[in-house]
Amino acid sequence: MNVKQAEFVMSNSDPAKCPKPDRPEYAFIGRSNVGKSSLINMLTNRHHLAKTSQTPGKTQLINHFLINGEWYLVDLPGYGFAKAPQREREKWERMIDGYLSGRQNLVCTFVLVDSRIEPQRIDLEFMERMGERGMPFVIVFTKSEKIGVNAIQQTVKRYRSVLLKTWAEVPPMFITSAVSNRGKEEILNYIDELNREFSAEIAGKR
Ligand code: GDP
Repeated sequence: MNVKQAEFVMSNSDPAKCPKPDRPEYAFIGRSNVGKSSLINMLTNRHHLAKTSQTPGKTQLINHFLINGEWYLVDLPGYGFAKAPQREREKWERMIDGYLSGRQNLVCTFVLVDSRIEPQRIDLEFMERMGERGMPFVIVFTKSEKIGVNAIQQTVKRYRSVLLKTWAEVPPMFITSAVSNRGKEEILNYIDELNREFSAEIAGKR
């Protein structure tokens, strides 16, 4: 898939006020600074669609973008910023929970983790909750050009073995770099495939 159009639709803190759920939707989430904005910009061929390096915890909003007039890309506020006060974290949790549990058109969530670091509790807990809810997610390893091929394989292996302790299957995984564009085509093709399934399902229901 080629991204020809990417337009900002709205930001809001109330999941109930998100756009009408009439198109397939894909959410992107991860710890702040994981490279989420850079990845979104890479996928959409824009330099500034998502804001890079916002002050952690500053604006905690659900951001909707419409891609090719066909599907929504959602930039969710990052988690795990050390300096955020408890109150902020609770607000984040309520908003994300409300969004994830109520959004009927959410097809898949892309959980971003830094290729260079060990599986972190906060990321695993988030994945665990997604699994418990039966919500599809994939893992996206970011900043992969910063480490060698073997180190990446080690990171992937570690995630697989941690996840397989609890689950019978591991989710799809994508290795990416916003610097080299690695993973761009794979992610967009994956979304394209899911979009087709979404349309087929809707057509089947008619
Ligand atoms: P966000 O807070 O998750 O939205 O992260 P950003 O996209 O703002 O990125 C955080 C920092 O990591 C910035 O300094 C980016 O330039 C850098 N960064 C993001 N993606 C990559 C990448 O693929 N490779 C490298 N080397 N740096 C990256």
